[in-house]
Amino acid sequence: MRILIVGAGQAAASMAARLRAKGHDGALTVIGAEPAPPYQRPPLSKAYLLGQMGLDRLVLRTAEWWQDQDIALHLSETAASVDPVARTVTTDRGTHAYDALALTLGARPRRLPAAMGGHLPGTHVIRSLADVDALAPAMQPGRRLVVIGGGYIGLEAAAVARKLGLTVTLIEAAPRILGRVAAPQTADLIRALHQAQGVTILEGTAISRITGDDRATGVALTDGRDIPADLVVTGIGVLPVTDLAAKAGLALDDGIATDIHGRTSDPAIWAAGDCASIPHQDGRLRLESVGGAIDMAECVADNILGADRAYAPNPWFWSDQFDAKLQIAGLGAGHDRIVTRSGASDHSGSVWYFRQDRLIAVDALNDARAYMIGKRLIEAGRSPDPDAIVTAPDLKALLS
Ligand code: NAP
Repeated sequence: MRILIVGAGQAAASMAARLRAKGHDGALTVIGAEPAPPYQRPPLSKAYLLGQMGLDRLVLRTAEWWQDQDIALHLSETAASVDPVARTVTTDRGTHAYDALALTLGARPRRLPAAMGGHLPGTHVIRSLADVDALAPAMQPGRRLVVIGGGYIGLEAAAVARKLGLTVTLIEAAPRILGRVAAPQTADLIRALHQAQGVTILEGTAISRITGDDRATGVALTDGRDIPADLVVTGIGVLPVTDLAAKAGLALDDGIATDIHGRTSDPAIWAAGDCASIPHQDGRLRLESVGGAIDMAECVADNILGADRAYAPNPWFWSDQFDAKLQIAGLGAGHDRIVTRSGASDHSGSVWYFRQDRLIAVDALNDARAYMIGKRLIEAGRSPDPDAIVTAPDLKALLS
C-alpha cells in the first residue's frame, strides 16, 4: 500500500512515525510546502521567539531519522490538486500516486485585509518558522509593539516582547482577552499577570486600521485614538486549510469533515490535526492543539492500517507567559457552573468548569497539582463535589 501524507507539520510527523511503528513497510511519502522538516510550533511564540531555543531543538526528527525510516520527505513542494478517481496528488514538482492519502494541512493565520493595513511591512503573524524568523530581529528593546488580538498568540507574543524590553500595548476587540478559550476568572488571572509586567491591555476596543504609508507606524482605534507602533503583531485566530479538499470535492464543515475514524467523505482520503473536524457530541469539533494533532494522527495511522478505532479527543493545552504556566485540561464550552480555587502564590490558582454537575475542564495557572488532578478526574469521567474543590485542604482528596 502506498501512503501519501500531504502537509508536513506535527500531525504528519506523528502519523508517519506511527505507521512505521505499526509495521507499515510499503511506500510512505510526506509532502510539505515549507523548506524546514516537520518542527514543533508551540515554542515559536515562546522560547524560539525569545532566542532561547534553536532550530536544532525545534525540529521533531533529524534528517537521519527520516532516512532510516525510509520515509520520502519532500520539502518546499506544494500540492496543487487531488484527483480522487485516479488517486493521485499533483504538486508543483510532479504527480504522486496513492492508495491512502492523509491531509494534515493545518491552519493558516487570519490576516487583516489590505484595506485595514494588514499588508504593511512591519505587520507580523506568528504561525511558521519563517514568520518568527522575520519577527525576531524586529523585537528590539525600546521599540513599541502593538499586538492585535488577545488569544494565546497575542498574549505569548506580548510576554516575550516585554521580556525583551519592548513597550507593549495589546488590543482585544471582544469584551475581554481569551474570550474564545477560557472563562472570565482565568482571563482575570492572566490580565493581572500582564499588567504587573507592564503590558497595557485594551479590551472591548476595536481597531479601524493599521496606519502608515510604506510601513506600519501605528494602530488607529474606532474611538479615534491612535496608538503609535514600531511593529504590529496580529493574533486574530486561524482558519483551517481546506482549499485542496474543497477542490477535490470532499465534504467540509468548519474544516475537512471526517467521521469518527478520521476518514473523509472519500474512503481513500483521511485527515488529521488543525484542518480536520470530527463528529463530537451533537455537532462537530475542530481542535486547534498540538496534543490533538498527535492523538488524531496516531489514531488515523492505526485506521489506515485497518484498526477501525474511534478517535476520542482528550484535549489539553498549555501556555507559558512570563514565568507563569497556564495548563488547561478538557473543553470548557457549554459550562453552566464555575468554581475557583486559590493557588499557593500570587498569580496562581485554578478554575473548574462544570456542565450539569459534570466536570468538563480545568484551567490551572502556576498550579501543576490542580491541573494533574483535574485532568485525571476528567479523563476518568469523575466529577467531584464543586464545594469540595474550594474547601479541600489537599486537592488529592478529590481522587480518593
Ligand atoms: P484565537 O485563540 O482565536 O484568539 C484570537 C483573538 O483575537 C480572539 O480573542 C479574537 O476575538 C481576537 N480578535 C479577532 N479579530 C480581532 C480584531 N480585529 N481586533 C482585535 N482582536 C481581534 O487565536 P490566536 O491567539 O491567533 O492563536 C492562533 C492559534 O494558535 C489558535 O489555534 C491557538 O489555540 C493556537 N495557539 C495555541 C497556543 C497554546 O495553546 N499555548 C499558543 C499559541 C497559539 P473574537 O473571538 O471575538 O474574534
